Amino acid sequence: MTTRRPLIAGNWKMNGLKADAQALSRDLAQRVNKAGGIGFDMLICPPFTVISTVVGAVAGSGVAVGGQDCHVAEKGAHTGDISPVMLADQGCQFVILGHSERRADHGETDAVVKAKAEAALAADLVAVVCVGETESQKDAGQTIDVVASQIAGSMPEGADAAKVVVAYEPVWAIGTGRTPTVDDVAKVHAAIRDEIAKALGNDVAAAMRILYGGSVKPSNAKDLLGLDHVDGALVGGASLKAEDFWAIAEASA
Ligand code: PEP
Repeated sequence: MTTRRPLIAGNWKMNGLKADAQALSRDLAQRVNKAGGIGFDMLICPPFTVISTVVGAVAGSGVAVGGQDCHVAEKGAHTGDISPVMLADQGCQFVILGHSERRADHGETDAVVKAKAEAALAADLVAVVCVGETESQKDAGQTIDVVASQIAGSMPEGADAAKVVVAYEPVWAIGTGRTPTVDDVAKVHAAIRDEIAKALGNDVAAAMRILYGGSVKPSNAKDLLGLDHVDGALVGGASLKAEDFWAIAEASA
């Protein structure tokens, strides 16, 4: 049986100035250090502008840092963009790709997400590939078809369990306080694992972490993170409060 170590990832989105970024990440690093040993991996994905602040604040704690997006190219004439090599150079180990806010705000397609994930892998970053259905797709009973097609279209060449993490984030659950039922989360995660198996084989599928994201908070973390195919959480709002993010992480172990 494969044991998948839970990954608790915080997506700060466009939040955090230097002082609060430092205080929050330092608080989390101190909690990890004080705990001695933890049964989960912790990841913070701050805005680009405070990545180096956060990397400095968590140094030596084992807390990983990631970007929230990257360009497909290594460098060049792409004003305002950040390359995966630049993220790695700043001390990042991960990058979130295909978040629904990027798919919606920047028109990112599965093909774009796949290309970015391949660039991330080439820069030795772990790609956190996000998938999830909209509310109208859910209401039309299309959830499994939508996420299966997003997995098939976004998974990078050369993916394996050490290089890719999948995050299932129903778009209608992000930042809304609403979540699917635990039965629905269990069904979708099992379907995602089947889809990964089709693409990459049973061994890779059994080892790859599939996170749930969408209004995770301390009060629902235990139920969601206790499910068989849920291997951690991608947390937005609740990752901005050390106490809440820590409580979610502890619920995973
Ligand atoms: C997210 O943005 O990835 C997310 C899951 O947000 P929230 O936890 O606030 O719903």
